[in-house]
Amino acid sequence: MPMHDAPVILADADNTLWDTDSVFADAQLGMLANVDQQFPGTARPDPLAHVRAYDQALAQIDRRHLRYPPVLLARALALGNLGHDPATAARMAIARRPSQDLASAEEGIVARYFEALARTPALLPGVTDGLELARRANLNVWILTEGSAERQRTRSQALGITHLVRGVSEATKSQDQFDRQRRRFAPSPLVVIGDQPDRDILPAQAAGCIGVLVPSRFRPTWISSSAWSAADHVAERFDLAIDWIVSGDLVSSAAAE
Ligand SMILES: [Mg+2]
Repeated sequence: MPMHDAPVILADADNTLWDTDSVFADAQLGMLANVDQQFPGTARPDPLAHVRAYDQALAQIDRRHLRYPPVLLARALALGNLGHDPATAARMAIARRPSQDLASAEEGIVARYFEALARTPALLPGVTDGLELARRANLNVWILTEGSAERQRTRSQALGITHLVRGVSEATKSQDQFDRQRRRFAPSPLVVIGDQPDRDILPAQAAGCIGVLVPSRFRPTWISSSAWSAADHVAERFDLAIDWIVSGDLVSSAAAE
């Protein structure tokens, strides 16, 4: 039997290694609570869905999409509490100056929102086990990020996993960049583990990497099922993804191609 080079693993950071979604959810709920204090709202069955309806309405019409300034969300939520639906509140938040009441409150609301976003997210279940398993199997794991590598280094230090990863690799998630990463580690096969089929898995596979999907809890409805089933493997948790890689199925399936 021919020897194969040990695979190298690139692990997406947000919502693959750690729970960034919960940090956002908590920050958004905190903003709603702070807006409610100034402009009392009615009880809602699902407060997070309420915030996200206003968030999505803003992202749809602001030219910066999801990167619109958070003060607009505070304004839209306040307008929502005054009875405006998400689409109307979003339009008004963008087009008009805020009321005097809101203008004086919004700076504090936004400051507390950014404080909440700065919280270190928790590791997702199975991540430490998976990284330890990879280390016992002598597999190198790199953290892949589109943001700042320095920020993710600080984060992995705070979470106590620095000694289990080889480093942080900064790259946009395009086919070109995945191809560059693949050549960097060749002849070792490169396995990309991520939570988003369209962003992590499909471009990696197009560049000749092996794509392992560990879906995040919230599956956006707009992701087609074909993107979902295109992954070379789907695992429920990070450690199960590493299990699959270590078990060697990967090496035989790559050799079969
Ligand atoms: Mg992710």
